[in-house]
Amino acid sequence: MPQLDEKLEPILAQVIHRNAGEVEFHQAVREVFESLGHVIAKRPDYADEALIERICEPERQIIFRVPWTDDKGQVHINRGFRVQFNSALGPYKGGIRFHPSVNVGIIKFLGFEQTFKNALTGMPIGGGKGGADFNPRGRSDAEVMRFCQSFMTELSRHLGEHTDVPAGDIGVGGREIGYMFGQYKRLTNRYEAGVLTGKGLSYGGSRARTEATGYGNTYFVQSMLETKGMSFDGKRCVVSGSGNVALYTMEKIMAFGGKVVACSDSNGYIVDEKGIDLELIKEIKEVRRERVSEYARLKGAGTQYIPDGSIWDVPCDVAMPSATQNELTGKDAQTLVKNGVIAVGEGANMPSTPEAIRVFQDAKVLFGPGKAANAGGVATSALEMQQNAARDSWTFEQTEARLATIMRNIHDTCAETAEEFGAPGNYVMGANIAGFVRVAEAMRALGV
Ligand code: GLU
Repeated sequence: MPQLDEKLEPILAQVIHRNAGEVEFHQAVREVFESLGHVIAKRPDYADEALIERICEPERQIIFRVPWTDDKGQVHINRGFRVQFNSALGPYKGGIRFHPSVNVGIIKFLGFEQTFKNALTGMPIGGGKGGADFNPRGRSDAEVMRFCQSFMTELSRHLGEHTDVPAGDIGVGGREIGYMFGQYKRLTNRYEAGVLTGKGLSYGGSRARTEATGYGNTYFVQSMLETKGMSFDGKRCVVSGSGNVALYTMEKIMAFGGKVVACSDSNGYIVDEKGIDLELIKEIKEVRRERVSEYARLKGAGTQYIPDGSIWDVPCDVAMPSATQNELTGKDAQTLVKNGVIAVGEGANMPSTPEAIRVFQDAKVLFGPGKAANAGGVATSALEMQQNAARDSWTFEQTEARLATIMRNIHDTCAETAEEFGAPGNYVMGANIAGFVRVAEAMRALGV
């Protein structure tokens, strides 16, 4: 592990002490601190320990009971969370994750990352994240609805279009947002469309929001490739995951002339050397809500389903990890580098371990960190908030054009910041520094 600046060491020790056992949060803070060392060296006015400590401490953390009844009448209890991390730039903004792994440390790391990601978009949104340790797998529609209603019954008192605006994340898509919005409306007697994003088109959602994270990541990688005079055309790509982010990453890669040969879920991965059949995988995941193994079963010869092992063993030019945190290890990164990977764009939040990032950077692989590369989702959420505030609805083309411009700006900001701080091509450093400076400046202006 690289040494931290001596001013930052005690702050990290304090973060670890205050948030004992929350390893993902420690990891996310350390990564930002590694970049901040360069800011402190060049801009001593930012060596403000109290400000940095304040940035690492969420403004508010809410933990609550979520009781709900299953279809057999049995009562279950889950735990709900909302970490309202930083509101210097705007209302707290960030998704809600329903997954059995959810705990306060995971939500805190996601909220911390979200703060810098949202700053990078240039939109007026602060950072937050929420979720529950609820496992939606195998639950009926009615069970999911009751869970969402119970979750929102408590969360609603902490939200508002000018206060905190959640959206989806793993396990929370259009269906869940609809149930939560319905419950918010019922409880408050307000049609406050801007209180949640990722809504359906019939009740205030934005066109291109569903596609935005995957499309945005692909735009980001395209910009990185362009800096080397390359493009997606003819590139062999591997996209982990098969949720919303992965599906629309695959769609955009294909539109750009690339070929996606593998994708996955938490049980295993599929390889289709002819190129993944997007319509079929969408039907399996979005309509039937089944596992990716179904793809190989239906396609038969020429496709493979590998239940164990790592999707990163599949050789590719471009890797787009779009499943979950720490899914791509140092060993995986070594395999990818050995097989000639050119670019990596993180569709998920913090999918590469610190070792993996070091392997990519040492090998001069173009590496787009999640807080920059996957910011298209939340940026389009901010566009949804704009449309809601104006009681307007834009076309798909108009919305996607805004997304493309935002992603280009994020790319250029990261590249220019990295250059300015003496690390050309280091998008991790560019993203961390540019995000930090924007949040820090607003926090200073607003006083302690
Ligand atoms: N969950 C997404 C993210 O990680 C989207 C958040 C949002 O749209 O508020 O950025």
